[in-house]
Amino acid sequence: MKVNAFAVQEPKGKLESYSYELGDLGAEEVDIKVSHCGICHSDLSMINNEWGMTIYPLVPGHEIIGEVINAGPAVKNLKVGDKVGLGWLSASCMSCSECMDGSQHLCSNNEATIVGRHGGFADKVRGHWSWAIPLPDKIDLAKAGPLLCGGITVFNPIILAGVKPTDAVGVIGIGGLGHMALKFLKHWGCEVIAFSSNPDKKDEILAMGASKVVNSRSPEELASIAGTLSFILNTTNVTLDWNSYLTCLKPKGKFHTVGAVLEPMAIPAFSLIMGEKSVGGSPIGSPELTKTMLDFCVRHDIYPTVEEFPMEKVNEAMTHLEEGKARFRIVLKN
Ligand SMILES: [Zn+2]
Ligand SMILES: [Zn+2]
Repeated sequence: MKVNAFAVQEPKGKLESYSYELGDLGAEEVDIKVSHCGICHSDLSMINNEWGMTIYPLVPGHEIIGEVINAGPAVKNLKVGDKVGLGWLSASCMSCSECMDGSQHLCSNNEATIVGRHGGFADKVRGHWSWAIPLPDKIDLAKAGPLLCGGITVFNPIILAGVKPTDAVGVIGIGGLGHMALKFLKHWGCEVIAFSSNPDKKDEILAMGASKVVNSRSPEELASIAGTLSFILNTTNVTLDWNSYLTCLKPKGKFHTVGAVLEPMAIPAFSLIMGEKSVGGSPIGSPELTKTMLDFCVRHDIYPTVEEFPMEKVNEAMTHLEEGKARFRIVLKN
């Protein structure tokens, strides 16, 4: 089967038309006809080989929405015609202790949708049935793509940290990931403080449910909420003064990063010791938690705020993202 896609041939390259043949369908695999694909910051990192694991040509795209068009004979729970989403992972071994424990996203033998194989900037993509997440009937397909990577990335920490509806919490960086975190936490019932250094976004951030926007570059503003938050989620990938955020936590508070900060994070031990605070991180989430999140989104009408580009305009869309102009997530439509 021939796949028509957009690929880059080298770091920082432009996306160009590219077609390739998918071999025989594995017994447990499905082929998905792509209707929409979100653009995640990781697509840009992979295009530019920032993590040293890109193999060219690369077809990016791992926030995929589509329909099953082929299903291998051993596929469970899916059939041709089903609407599914495929995110950062496209397979896991299904037999290691993490997989057997329901933490397939932590499987050390997992397969990422755009690492050593081709992703969703295409008309078709293939994956293992376990990661082709069945979509709820009433979901808005045009907006759902970003939930499959960005969405679950910020939803999982809410579960991991045991955030309660009565908590006051904070989100650092209100971009593609952060704005989804803000909406989730607001519907969870929390009071949400948004940390942002972009005054242009303030009104939109308040409209999305933040009770307050704190300028993360102002030590006085950070000091004004010292000791008030139970949970802080960092979605930025730049180095910040982490200790000033730890100071915003209440005793027993948790600081969690999903932003892939490449420099080591300077965390003073005494900021953790006095007050029993902790620092953690996580990647995406399990397939089951992804399903739970999608149901939660449909129930509360939570969607990322998206800008849609036709798939053919993928280079314009990437430039829009690179220039920091995306409000707040981009979706490509076939
Ligand atoms: Zn992603
Ligand atoms: Zn496994």
